[in-house]
Amino acid sequence: MRVPKRSAQQEYRLKQRAQVEASPSLAAKFPRLRGLKATLEYFDPAGVTKNGELKCKMNLEHASAVVWFACRGADCAEGDFDLSEPLAEAVLARRKVAVGELRCQGMRKRGDRERVACRTLLRYKLSLDYDRDTTEKRRASGAGHSTAPKKTGPRTDSEEIPRAQALRKAQRKTSA
Ligand SMILES: [Zn+2]
Repeated sequence: MRVPKRSAQQEYRLKQRAQVEASPSLAAKFPRLRGLKATLEYFDPAGVTKNGELKCKMNLEHASAVVWFACRGADCAEGDFDLSEPLAEAVLARRKVAVGELRCQGMRKRGDRERVACRTLLRYKLSLDYDRDTTEKRRASGAGHSTAPKKTGPRTDSEEIPRAQALRKAQRKTSA
């Protein structure tokens, strides 16, 4: 079964999705990263009027290292915001907060036929948490409030599982 003709927009989304799916998870790409939150504010091209805001907590185990958010512009095609690079830079520098702006490079329709540059402005803030060093981590996990059964397997795994579940739950809440 083949869909005979896809719009440029659909082609673009499929390409993006393939790229996202082919990339490793955030946890795999940034093993020292323990938490990632993003606040996104969408502005008009002049950067004056705020058209929307999105806050999300990323699930490091499941979210792709290609961090990409759709443009909210009506009919915007081939635009969107790729935060992969700002994120990689922030992790490399072990920054706890990274803020910046991205501009949508997509095109959108105005009226019936005219296509204009979207240029929606995204102001983002990434909040990052990192792995503590081993001694600190041991002290923290020995604090006694952990309900997760401790396994003797690889250290990181036993801690990742309850955390990933919590993140998944949080993400489900925010993405609604
Ligand atoms: Zn756009």
